[in-house]
Amino acid sequence: MSIERIVSGESVGFEEEREQLSLRPKTLKEYIGQSQLKENLSIALEAAKKRSEPVDHILFHGPPGLGKTTLAHIIANEMGSELVTTSGPSLQQPTDLLGILTNLSEGDILFIDEIHRLSTVIEEYLYPAMEDFEIDFVVDKGAFAKTIKIPLKRFTLVGATTRAGFLSAPLRDRFGLFQHLDFYEPADLATIVSRSAGILKVEIDDQGSDEIATRSRGTPRVANRLLRRVRDYAQVKADGRINSKVAQQSLKMEGVDELGLDDLDRKYLRTIIEFYRGGPVGIDAIGATLNEESETLEDLVEPYLLKIGFLQRTSRGRCAGPRAWEHLGMSPPEAREAEGPTLFDS
Ligand code: ADP
Repeated sequence: MSIERIVSGESVGFEEEREQLSLRPKTLKEYIGQSQLKENLSIALEAAKKRSEPVDHILFHGPPGLGKTTLAHIIANEMGSELVTTSGPSLQQPTDLLGILTNLSEGDILFIDEIHRLSTVIEEYLYPAMEDFEIDFVVDKGAFAKTIKIPLKRFTLVGATTRAGFLSAPLRDRFGLFQHLDFYEPADLATIVSRSAGILKVEIDDQGSDEIATRSRGTPRVANRLLRRVRDYAQVKADGRINSKVAQQSLKMEGVDELGLDDLDRKYLRTIIEFYRGGPVGIDAIGATLNEESETLEDLVEPYLLKIGFLQRTSRGRCAGPRAWEHLGMSPPEAREAEGPTLFDS
């Protein structure tokens, strides 16, 4: 993705990845929130263990930073098996996939992140691997072409995607479990912040955790990142302890407002409101005005704005919700009519 934002659910570099690792829950019990998903998963894991079989292939779907990779680690840990990690874009050649699959042992978990970005050719190799635990490998070309069947050990494929709609139907159908991850409630995020503060050995009170939680856009990765920024601020500007005032001051300095929106979110909303009278407007027009790729906006900006009702997606395009107008200090259209002429009427 083209932009680095403090409120992005995506990972931004090696240093952060290293610290997020230490904060990653290792068991389902430690995993906070997503109660329905945890329940479904624990039943599937328990049943597989009872049958001494690998667990069914599982697909996790949801915005970045909500805990899909963490769940893959937890599944491997709970099943007592090894986790092998790869991603859609890094599997370029069929031999890349073949190498990984033939090295798997019985019960191993193969995690493919961004699985919607697998090429069609690689996907087709995956079908028999998932269904029959074998792979049909074509050697030679033309008249000499031969298909060799290579048997595989029984493994579990865990796929993660931010865009379930981009997955082909045959691939989607081969997953036994399809679990959607939704944005976290502020109370769950506050628990995540307190837990992470404990691991990082930072003192934080409940109001401090709440303050960070409400600015984390429903995303644990963002909560952990904001916590680290506030920790630094507290150490330099205060006595090292985090309370609501320290959290507020620190995040204000970072340009994160009380709902967790940053400059890009505000610019996005202003574009719809000021250039397109609140919408409807197509995503490509917004992208062109902001000089951002539509895909970036769709993945990193819109999901949370939709979730909090600031944005509506209609068949005619995007519209700013009344609360978005109010948040930016403007009156939504109905209220404006009663008030008389506005900036658009002159
Ligand atoms: P995704 O794969 O969906 O992008 P990750 O699994 O990498 O997200 O999660 C990002 C970070 O958020 C992890 O390092 C972990 O510390 C934290 N995290 C995610 N889900 C939870 C949770 N349910 N409880 C506690 N921490 C979580």
